[in-house]
Amino acid sequence: MTSQGIVEQFLSLKSETDADVLTMQCGDFYEFFADDAELVADELDLKVSQKSSHGSSYPMAGVPVDDLTPYLKALVERGYRVAVADQFEDESGDHYREVTRVVTPGTLLETDDADARYIAAVVSDGGSAGDAAGLGASGAAGESDGIGLAFADATTGQFLVTVADDADDALSELYRFSPVEVLPGPDVRADDELTRRLREETDASVSLFEADAFAPGRAKHALDEQFGSETLSSVGLDDDPAVRAAGAVLRYVEETGAGVLPSMTRLQTFETSEHLELDATTQRNLELTETMQGGREGTLVDTIDHTVTSPGGRLLREWVTRPRRDRGELDRRLDCVDALASAALARERVRDALDGGYDLERLAARATSGSADATDLLAVRDTLAILPAVADAIEGSPLADSPLSAVVDRPDRDAARELREELDSALADEPPKTVTQGGLFRRGYDDELDDLLDRHAEASEWIDTLAEREKRRHGLSHVTVDRNKTDGHYIQVGKSVAGEVPEHYSEIKTLKNSKRFVTDELAEREREILRIEESRGELEYELFCDLRERVAERAAVLQDVGRALAEVDALASLAAHAAANDWVRPELTEAGALDIDAGRHPVVEQTTDFVPNDLRMNRDREFLLVTGPNMSGKSTYMRQVALVTLLAQIGSFVPARAATIGIVDGIYTRVGALDELAQGRSTFMVEMQELSNILHSATEDSLVILDEVGRGTATYDGISIAWAATEYLHNEVRAKTLFATHYHELTSLAEHLERVVNVHVAVDDGQTQPSASGTSSRPADDSDESVTFLRTVEEGPTDRSYGVHVAELAGVPDPVVTRADEVLARLRADEAIEARGSGARGGDEPTQAVFDLSAGEFVDGERTDGDAPGGTGANREDTGAVGSDGEGAGAVSNGTPRETTHPPELEAIAAEIDELDLNETSPIELMATVQEWQEQLDEQSKRDE
Ligand code: ADP
Repeated sequence: MTSQGIVEQFLSLKSETDADVLTMQCGDFYEFFADDAELVADELDLKVSQKSSHGSSYPMAGVPVDDLTPYLKALVERGYRVAVADQFEDESGDHYREVTRVVTPGTLLETDDADARYIAAVVSDGGSAGDAAGLGASGAAGESDGIGLAFADATTGQFLVTVADDADDALSELYRFSPVEVLPGPDVRADDELTRRLREETDASVSLFEADAFAPGRAKHALDEQFGSETLSSVGLDDDPAVRAAGAVLRYVEETGAGVLPSMTRLQTFETSEHLELDATTQRNLELTETMQGGREGTLVDTIDHTVTSPGGRLLREWVTRPRRDRGELDRRLDCVDALASAALARERVRDALDGGYDLERLAARATSGSADATDLLAVRDTLAILPAVADAIEGSPLADSPLSAVVDRPDRDAARELREELDSALADEPPKTVTQGGLFRRGYDDELDDLLDRHAEASEWIDTLAEREKRRHGLSHVTVDRNKTDGHYIQVGKSVAGEVPEHYSEIKTLKNSKRFVTDELAEREREILRIEESRGELEYELFCDLRERVAERAAVLQDVGRALAEVDALASLAAHAAANDWVRPELTEAGALDIDAGRHPVVEQTTDFVPNDLRMNRDREFLLVTGPNMSGKSTYMRQVALVTLLAQIGSFVPARAATIGIVDGIYTRVGALDELAQGRSTFMVEMQELSNILHSATEDSLVILDEVGRGTATYDGISIAWAATEYLHNEVRAKTLFATHYHELTSLAEHLERVVNVHVAVDDGQTQPSASGTSSRPADDSDESVTFLRTVEEGPTDRSYGVHVAELAGVPDPVVTRADEVLARLRADEAIEARGSGARGGDEPTQAVFDLSAGEFVDGERTDGDAPGGTGANREDTGAVGSDGEGAGAVSNGTPRETTHPPELEAIAAEIDELDLNETSPIELMATVQEWQEQLDEQSKRDE
């Protein structure tokens, strides 16, 4: 022992680490002392005892060495960083302890979860960090070089680096990778807004790593050390923030001491533009990997995942969260899926061959960190053997001509074979879990070991035959030779003949019916066996570490084989799902049309007798206004379009009779205001932020899904914003847009904005009619431009609505805000609104048609202010309400105008009451709905006066 007491050693190690908790090995236990003991006692229900040291008494709690892992996991899950100090012996046999690793969410290697566990570093360039990061929804990057992002998975050795344009881009990327731990660089930390969004919009725990590690010089040095100095330039990584992020992650992995650094064999860079843009909201809305409620069941991944290995599942999940834009790669995947889908027998053979494979990327990391045991290396051996088996199943089958052959030829097959043969010749068939006690290797692997084994066998043989020899030599009956813990080896002689034993027998114990003896020779043999066993343990451990080291050196081969097998697994899974569910290969084209024949929702079709429906979008039909009663299937239809497009862009078949998918650069969605309202989340601001993000980020190659816009505010504000947003998307952005709205005023825009088309969801009875709200008014004067929200609660109802101001605060583009204000002013004054459309029927000129709100229709010719018709809105055209065509629920077709003869407000309200399903409506929704009715009736009676 060193002069320091155990607790003093503990406290001194603790003071040197920045971890929250320390655990220190003391022989067969890991112990926590003092405050740390109290903490684990509270958190993990460990029993606390007292340990006295140098006159003081300290709380102490401990767990057996082999049981540490679950406690580590539990502490890390509760947000603690745990330092682990292991015990070592110095040359003079004294024990000392050193912190060998700091376990954090990103460096917890003992995971059973197949998903990746990324640590991400986020760096914005110092000077204009505020510009780049702080703008939130508006997303302009100012003078910034962008935001550097590095992702390292310590459990698989994956290492990826990129530069995001701005904070939103960075956050979508973070959401995609879903890191378990984030290291914000110093400039990001200085940016409260981005730090807040990191904490709120990702599930990652935020770790404050030393600022030095992010310094450009140190970071570049770390990268050069890891990947060689040529690598940086060869992968084109010279962006300052990216280099800094990558270097910092490497240092972090190194310093937390997980020992997996060498498994980061490759630096992969990518452009955020390689992938389909999917902001965090959209990833959530489309329930790709997690449902809105937070589960996995019912997600897209859950539905299509039939992989037989965990790396296959991990890759499929990666594909779903990172769909691609390049047709080359997508066609390659589709060719593979196509071949696998049509060759059922070969596909099943391939899947059978894959089945039972282990996670080679994880095993590579374990080998590198020195935590792999002999069973792990056997798993490496057996999984390496799967590659040629899969290759065989492909060769000589209809799959041979597909790009699948290239997938299995990508890894270095010779290196994989050599490693497999080496492991095969080395390891015993059933090696023990412990690597220090021998029994790991086959005969013939090492001469010295063989020699020890021979000597061991010889000594054992001598002992095994001793009883027989003694019987013969000394004429004794009833002799056995055995061993136990206390006596070691002994000769046991029956009591009846105990008096006849030779003189050199020395008695060690008398039992009821027998006596036990030892001899010098037996004791010597016993010592020899112990010596041999000890040497054997040491030698085998050494040999094992060498072998493990050689496996670690070939981590890259393991990773390549692992990735190739995972890819075959993921492709075969897509094919199996396509075959079982009648999916078809989509035809991919460069950006352009979306044409889906008899499409279905990939998840809903699993549990429902789904009514297929069509979609036609092209340059002349860029903007579809989707109307139909509540629960008629509008959301499902729009999500289905988004999911079909997304599936095509991961290289999957799609649920449809036929589909042509013009590749999109991003999918943006805004859905579910009412659901969120019902959940009590503050929503109108969120809704406007989401809308703002879409209006800023979407391009003419994007797909935009809007499921109600403006619902969270008063009707006039809502219409104004929706109106202005529609014009903006149609005229400026020109994204392919599906917009479900209950504002029927908007459906009239289709007549005047060239590429806007109405579709509606037809219903069974042909009677139900969608609500036609949007005619209420609020006596208010919002002319004061600078509204401040007081956030105080006052008596009485509010008399104005601030919807457009909230939109402005949320960063909705200026032209939209200005336009919404105009529309609002005209609505309030009961004046006609003129639809503006560039490239519309009137060329780039604004269209001259004007919308007469009270009549609910467009009228030809120019109207000037004050020229608004009065009237009760009779003869209003309601383009969305259809159903007489007798199509089944969920069928979507172009809207047909239909005349009504009642005041639309009354008719609409009656229809809404009629279709309101009380079981499906939350009290809050109900209140909102009734309030809307009241407003509408109020308005109506004012008009009537
Ligand atoms: P909306 O958005 O119009 O209120 P939803 O899209 O939420 O309606 O759909 C309402 C219900 O109808 C859901 O339970 C959904 O699963 C079901 N549904 C929607 N579309 C279809 C369809 N094409 N075939 C069968 N069921 C559908």
